[in-house]
Amino acid sequence: MKKVLKILILIFITNRFSARIIIPQVPDVVHPPIPEDANLDAAYNTLIEDQDPEVRPGLFQGDIALNNDVYNYWRIGLRWDVFPEKLWTNGTVPYVISPIYEPSDQVTIYKAIRTINFMTCIKFVPWDGVTKDYILIWPIKYPSGCWSFVGKFGGSQIVSLQPPDSNGPNCLGTEGRAIHELMHALGIFHEQSRWDRDKFVKIHHENIIPSFKSNFDKQSLENTTYHYEYDYDSIMHYGKYYFSKAKGKPTMTAKMPNVKRLGQRKAMSKGDCLKLNHLYGCFDNAKRRRKYYNICQFMGL
Ligand SMILES: [Zn+2]
Repeated sequence: MKKVLKILILIFITNRFSARIIIPQVPDVVHPPIPEDANLDAAYNTLIEDQDPEVRPGLFQGDIALNNDVYNYWRIGLRWDVFPEKLWTNGTVPYVISPIYEPSDQVTIYKAIRTINFMTCIKFVPWDGVTKDYILIWPIKYPSGCWSFVGKFGGSQIVSLQPPDSNGPNCLGTEGRAIHELMHALGIFHEQSRWDRDKFVKIHHENIIPSFKSNFDKQSLENTTYHYEYDYDSIMHYGKYYFSKAKGKPTMTAKMPNVKRLGQRKAMSKGDCLKLNHLYGCFDNAKRRRKYYNICQFMGL
């Protein structure tokens, strides 16, 4: 009874943010498609303590759940002519936020959603309970961590954001990690998987946990449709120590001088903002182009 009351209170709080919310049934355990060669248990124990919550084993590049078809064609932003079914129609993404989250965590998730809604022409809207495809933001227990599919998967699609616990803030310390995972759901891959990345970063293969070497793969030019400059500041870029065997051993370093950091999870960079708008056709007419281009310049990190 107490639990029911708690959920009702949470729904009430949730309703203060959105006019209407329908909570679907979600199993405790969800098994997204995981690459066949992923070794979940063995690898999990080898991760060092201060690893990023995004760096979870078993999922493609740490935090991406995807099937082999997508793997074969993956790119920085999904090409809609190759994967028309993965595009969110009219840039509209219905969403549900789990009532399991504490109100403060819900606020963090709302901040991420509002940021994307403001900075791009993409519109996250509360799910109406009817629309077939929508995202379900839920703290999945297995695999835990912060993860997402890339592009629209069809049906109710999980974006897993692990809430803070005694080990740390996990995926909801700031809205940055939520934005990162939502950007995957919109069809964006990691910045360092660009075909031209070797001009910009050096991969230290000897420091990578062996079973995660494929997380540092890149794509060929033919499969890439990317127009923006390499972006060290991207919210979609790996950090220097991701999937490192040991403390202090970088897996990736910058080749260009004066690069202070690799990746960040604070906010969308100017480049992130531009590429999302580009991917969703927000630059297609002159008025909108001016609006969102200016927003990216002013608000992008
Ligand atoms: Zn990611």
